[in-house]
Amino acid sequence: MNEIKIDSKLAKRKFIPLPLGSIKPRGWLLNQLRIQVNGLSGHLDEFWADIARSGWIGGDAEGWERAPYWLDGIVPLAFLLDDAKLKEKIHKWIDYILTHQNPDGWLGPIKDTRYKEYDPWPIFIIMKAMTQYYEATKDERVISALRKVLIRLDKLLDERPLFDWGKSRWADGVLSVHWFYECTGEEWLLNLAKKLHDQGYNWSEHFADFKYKERLTIGFDQTTHVVNNAMAIKSPGVWFRQSHNEADKKSVYQILEMLDRYHGQVTGIFTGDEHYAGLNPSQGTELCAVVEYMFSLENLISFFGDVAFSDRLEKITFNALPATFKPDMWAHQYDQQANQVICKHSEDKVYATNGPDSNIFGLEPNYGCCTANMHQGFPKFASHLWMKSEDGGLAIIAYAPSEADISLSGSSVNAILETDYPFDDKLNFTIKTDKAIEFPLYLRIPNWAEGAEIKIGNDVIKAKSGTFHKIVREWSGTTSLTVHIPMRVVISRRYHNSVAIERGALVYSLKIGEEWKKVKGEEPHADWEVYPTTDWNYALEINEANPEESIKFELKTVGDCPFSPEGAPIIAKVKGRKVPEWTIEHNAAGPLPESPVKSSEPLEELTLIPYGCTNLRVTEFPKL
Ligand SMILES: [Zn+2]
Repeated sequence: MNEIKIDSKLAKRKFIPLPLGSIKPRGWLLNQLRIQVNGLSGHLDEFWADIARSGWIGGDAEGWERAPYWLDGIVPLAFLLDDAKLKEKIHKWIDYILTHQNPDGWLGPIKDTRYKEYDPWPIFIIMKAMTQYYEATKDERVISALRKVLIRLDKLLDERPLFDWGKSRWADGVLSVHWFYECTGEEWLLNLAKKLHDQGYNWSEHFADFKYKERLTIGFDQTTHVVNNAMAIKSPGVWFRQSHNEADKKSVYQILEMLDRYHGQVTGIFTGDEHYAGLNPSQGTELCAVVEYMFSLENLISFFGDVAFSDRLEKITFNALPATFKPDMWAHQYDQQANQVICKHSEDKVYATNGPDSNIFGLEPNYGCCTANMHQGFPKFASHLWMKSEDGGLAIIAYAPSEADISLSGSSVNAILETDYPFDDKLNFTIKTDKAIEFPLYLRIPNWAEGAEIKIGNDVIKAKSGTFHKIVREWSGTTSLTVHIPMRVVISRRYHNSVAIERGALVYSLKIGEEWKKVKGEEPHADWEVYPTTDWNYALEINEANPEESIKFELKTVGDCPFSPEGAPIIAKVKGRKVPEWTIEHNAAGPLPESPVKSSEPLEELTLIPYGCTNLRVTEFPKL
């Protein structure tokens, strides 16, 4: 976010994101971003036609959403890592786009062969990439290019209102228009934002009278589409800034409630393969929906400062996001499942409208949108970890090893967080200032963290769960503080009365032996099926009243590839019995037996690992 220089008419954000480049990843997060840049993200432009020969750089391949999607993720990736090679690529791309703006103001190809001319949707995406690029580089050409394209868009909407994807995803357009307004103070932009809102789909109405309570098997529909819904979560929040209407804020909570109640999964996401798919953990969720849900939450926490948004952001980031990638991030799935016991090409499939390759790991399984859009996940999480508070302080809204450089009241502040969180429960902060200065520091205490404690020197402070704990003091020189957020085991009852296990921000799943079989393509970007080599059909013996008695955790070291079955930094042991009648049907875990279940099989010790470390897993278990 840019420093706001104008007297903005938009509602103040509780927390203001820092300009790209202010936050640097450390520890496991730095390592994960390096895995990403060494995988598909850093190489897609070298061999994947829709980027390598994109219409956006004058090529003959797709000239619509794919290159903008890729840029929207690799711009933050490059600047977070300060990666010279990736930055050079980006400069070339942005330079081409800026120097080839059409005389009428349109940015990028006016028409791709498959889509209508002057489609606003790809403009919404490229603006997100451009605004991040501007924050990192201060390249003034971006400002003049955005002004031109927005003037063109403003006229265009009078001639032809929003349609298709742009109509569903209007809030992404408004986000960038608001960014530009707060950058320049030009009032006409508020009218443009209103036009986008008024022509856009009314998601608040959709969820106020929510009709889709079951798995859908009908054909394509914009309004029940999983990615559109994940993007829509932020839409009333985005509009609240301009409307100042409390009903818009309330609507955000209603959307979350409906999606959780009828389609929710234990990792915080909802199913859609690729339309609403119900509560069954064998149904899928598309990767685009995972990263878009994260982006929605990063915005909502900034607008409203509610800890619940941060809790869910962490849950999705540490579980659903990494689980859907091959650990080296050279392959991804289109659809992931909470109970995912086999990943193979399946003509006989559980997905309502998605195709036979939807849950193999590959370059572009099912459809290439995720191949283009997946890059924003980890980088935008990293670039939103620290924010400036509305009262001029510093806030950390989600936890991962990182540091932030920020100027507060004329003093340079460097804040470092060293931690193995979410695997460990200790957070070690070091705050350095170049001169003595008073400012508030806000530390997020998750809703699940009962008994959190903050230590500064000899002071021990109790912090309340579900709050941003505020510490106001004079910070001088170097100050260390430690936060301990205790992680207790939580057992939840889910589909067919099954049980799922959470501890802190992590969800735990059965570790299943895997055999990877290459089915297509060339390494490193090949397509893979994954077959189970160990049994998976277990019911658990768990003492729900006192779960710590029946689940034992063991913390290991956080290695080079924490989000992999072998590299799991923490494991848990539980006991269970096989349920022989629970088998694979339609190439997925068959109907989940209704709990409680009976089994006369021997009691076995089972190993659970974090969901994000798995490729195959059972997450919702029958209970004995
Ligand atoms: Zn996708």
